[in-house]
Parts: sequence; structure tokens; C-alpha cells
Amino acid sequence: MTSTADYDLVILGGGAAAFAAITEASRQDLSTAMVNTGLPLGGTCVNVGCVPSKHLLAVGDQAATPQENPFEAVQYSDGEPTVDWAAALDGTDDLVEGFRQENYVDVAEHFETDIYEGYGRLIEDSTIEVVDGADEGARISGGKALVATGSSPWAPAIGGLDGVDYYTSETILEERDLPESIVMLGGGYIALEWGQILHCVGVDVTILQRSERVLSGMDGQLGREMQRAFEAEGIEVITGNDFQRVRTPAADGGAETVQSGVAVETVVDGTERTVSGDALFVATGVQPNSEGIGLESVGIETNPDGTIHVDEHFQTTNPTIYAAGDVIGEPELETVAAKEGNHAIKNAFGDEGVSINYDTVPAVVFTSPEVAAVGTTELEYMDEHGTCSCRTVQMEDVPRAKAVKNTDGLVQVVKHHETDEIVGVHMVGPRAADMIMEATLAVKFGLTVDDIIDTVHPFPTFSEAFKQACQAFRRDTSTMSCCIE
Ligand SMILES: Cc1cc2nc3c(=O)[nH]c(=O)nc-3n(C[C@H](O)[C@H](O)[C@H](O)COP(=O)(O)OP(=O)(O)OC[C@H]3O[C@@H](n4cnc5c(N)ncnc54)[C@H](O)[C@@H]3O)c2cc1C
Repeated sequence: MTSTADYDLVILGGGAAAFAAITEASRQDLSTAMVNTGLPLGGTCVNVGCVPSKHLLAVGDQAATPQENPFEAVQYSDGEPTVDWAAALDGTDDLVEGFRQENYVDVAEHFETDIYEGYGRLIEDSTIEVVDGADEGARISGGKALVATGSSPWAPAIGGLDGVDYYTSETILEERDLPESIVMLGGGYIALEWGQILHCVGVDVTILQRSERVLSGMDGQLGREMQRAFEAEGIEVITGNDFQRVRTPAADGGAETVQSGVAVETVVDGTERTVSGDALFVATGVQPNSEGIGLESVGIETNPDGTIHVDEHFQTTNPTIYAAGDVIGEPELETVAAKEGNHAIKNAFGDEGVSINYDTVPAVVFTSPEVAAVGTTELEYMDEHGTCSCRTVQMEDVPRAKAVKNTDGLVQVVKHHETDEIVGVHMVGPRAADMIMEATLAVKFGLTVDDIIDTVHPFPTFSEAFKQACQAFRRDTSTMSCCIE
């Protein structure tokens, strides 16, 4: 039976963007309703993305610590650590459940947001109908609507891939018995994070990347440094793949269970290769959840890649409907989705005209070593200005890194060649994920390299690597005493 309820704001999707939207809506005393299905309330980040992956990276890191112990003075006498993967997933589930309850279910209740469970579709201007699921038949109408349906794992068109069962970052979380070996397609942050998790818990991992380097969207040095670090750790990384075909050795092309064995036929540097493993993991990116949700029927246009077309204020081509989060495209990050959700509501109801400067959004890969970047890369700067003003400091020259024997990585600073303002910072190394915030403020507020040099940094810290890279514009840092200011 169809019933219609009216609200100030109705939202399709129940992830980070949607929750930021109800938070802002509550501040403005607006009534809200949300339709969600697929993933539980909270969406990707809490259920299958940021939270489980960071938890499992910490589990893997703990397991790998004895092998990476750099101090001869420390000996582990009880042999190799073992990891009970099923127990690790149980721990993840508990953690996720707690986060979901506290940060999403309770929050929706606190803001008095009505939650409709089921698959929703826009049927006319800012009216959503639940067409499948527990609340099937419900119609909710809003003064304004927000589309925040997120994204899902995407697989490339490679011959045979359709007929092969494989893991994604979502389905691996349901696998209690890991295979002995995994071939992973992809070289972005999800491939690296999951590649390292699986390696650290004992799976033999081979990463196959189509581009010439991993992390191809970031500065070239970062990908090369990570490939070197992964290979030193025992993870095979093969870049520059021209994928030909994927097949299961058991039955050519037929749908098989995920651990029945897989062979990836590829061409690398003109040479044919076949890479085999017990199972395949596809981590080649995400696609927007924009199909089948009624966009055409309400006049919302999409971009060629399927993302929803919005203006800088997150308004779609239908003026009563806004969109935010992964469904509007890169950068697909939790914090960005939330900021977009917040801004969409400010613009929809307060006419505030707020937007996001995406050039100052930091990107982070939570592997060990960590990778972090903000702003313009050397290559982008060269393309724009025909010249480059960049300096790189190796972690092995940073006193803290030397003292704790953790010297993997580097920090590169790109500055404006005339004004000295810092326009980009790119780093690999311990604590890069935290260190990037100083660099982000520098890029956002146009600080110069001298502003950073003139700021006293605690000694000895990894944060000095950023200052040292700035100092490298002014002096030869190889002849510098430890704590020179
Ligand atoms: C493995 C992994 C690790 C990640 N790690 C990080 C990280 O460390 N840091 C970071 O910032 N970001 C990370 N991300 C990205 C981050 O999770 C996403 O950018 C963010 O969750 C997007 O939020 P969203 O609100 O746009 O969509 P989502 O969180 O995906 O929420 C959308 C919700 O809408 C539902 N839905 C879709 N269509 C419909 C429909 N028609 N009707 C009803 N419901 C629907 C979906 O099932 C989902 O529940 C990670 C992602 C992955 C996959």
C-alpha cells in the first residue's frame, strides 16, 4: 500500500554524506527522512570501508612487527606470531557494530530522522518511493531532496572476468578461511591497503597494476617508493600490465567458487605472462550508484562516467535536488562526502553558497609506510608553469627516523617559483597520515617555505621532515647539524 509522508528534507542513501546532511538539517530545525538499503545504516565507511580496513591493517601490522624489528637488542623467543583471521573478522564486526550504533543509529534517533528501509527511487521532484525492501510502497516528499547513494566496487572489462568469482573489499570481509595465495588487480589505495593486510596475515599476495606504477593518481615518487617497500616486504608488484584474459584453470570461463584457482593472462613489456593464484581480488576502483534511481525521470543529468552532475554548490540539474558524496565523483573520501553533505544542506536551505576547494583535500594511504599528499604534484606544476620549484628530503636524513631505525620514505615540497608559497606536499613514511595536516594548512592558507622554516618544530619528530624539505630550498641540508633552525 502506498503512503506519503512530508518532510523538509528527504535523502536517498544512508552513508557519510546523508548523516552530515541530517546533522546540518537538525541545526536548522528541519524535519528529515532517509531511505537506505544495500549496506547497513552508515554506508561504506563504517561497514565495509575506512573502519574495517584500518582495524585490519593494525591487526596485520601487529603480526608483522616481530619480523620487522630493527633492533638487535630485542629478540623474540616464542617464534612467529600467528593470526586467527576468523577472530580478526569477529573483532572487526564488533568494532563496526559499536561504531554503527553510536555514530549512526543513535545519531539518527537523536535528530529524529525517520529511517525507511529499502531501495528508493526518485519519482518526481523531491519525492522518493521505496520500491523494494521492508518499507516498500512508502513515498516520502521533501521541500528539497538529497541524493547520497555512494558508490560500489567496480571491475574493468577484461575478457573472462565476468565468469570468474572474485573478492572485493566488501566480500573479503565475509571470508573466514583465507586462501594461501591471492592475485590482486589494481594499484590504488584500496589494493595497497588490502594487499598489505592479506600479506601480513600470511597470504601470498601478487599485485597487478595496469599503469606503470602503483598509486598512479599521486606523484610518481610515491608509487615508486611504495613498490620498493612492498617488494622488500615480500609482496610481488607487477606494473604496466596489458590484461588479456582471466580464467579459472579448472573450467574455462565458468563461474567457479572464489578459491578454485585463477590465472591472469597479461602482457608486460611486450612479454606474455600468466600469473596464477588460489583466488582473485579485484580492487580497481569504484562506480557511482546512480543507475536505477530515477534520475532521468526528475531531470537530473549525469556525467559520462555515471556520476551525478552538480554545480559548485552541489545542486543537480533539478533545482530542488542536491547530490553529495561518492555519487558525484572524486575524491571518494568519507570526509569529503560529509563536507559535501553539509554544504548541500547549507546551500539548499540557507542559500549560503558554500563550496569546497578540492585542491586542499589531503589524500592518505594507511599502509606501512604511510602515504599522504595534498595539492599540486611536480608534473602538474611543470605542465602549468613550464618550470618547477621542488625539493625532496629522504627519511633516512631525518634525525627521528634514524634514531628509531624507521627510515623508509621521503617528503617532497612543491612551491610557487615566484611567491615561495607551498602548493603541494607529497610524502611516504612513518606517520605521514598525521603529518599531512601541517602541509594541508600550509597549502590551504598559502604559507611560504619560510613560514614553515621559521616555525619551531619539536625535535626529534617526523614532522621535521616537512621543515627539512622546506629548508632544502634555502641551503644544502646534507651539511646541516641535527636541530638547526
Ligand atoms: C575499502 C575502503 C576503504 C576506505 N577507506 C577510507 C578511508 O580510510 N578514509 C576515507 O576518507 N575514505 C575511505 N573510503 C571511502 C569512503 O568510505 C567513502 O568515500 C564514503 O563512505 C562515501 O560516503 P557516501 O555517503 O557518499 O556513500 P556511502 O557511504 O556508500 O553510503 C551510501 C548508502 O546508500 C545506500 N544506497 C545506494 N543506493 C540506494 C538506493 N537506491 N536506495 C537506498 N539506499 C541506497 C548504500 O547501500 C549505502 O548504504 C574507503 C572506501 C573503501 C571501499
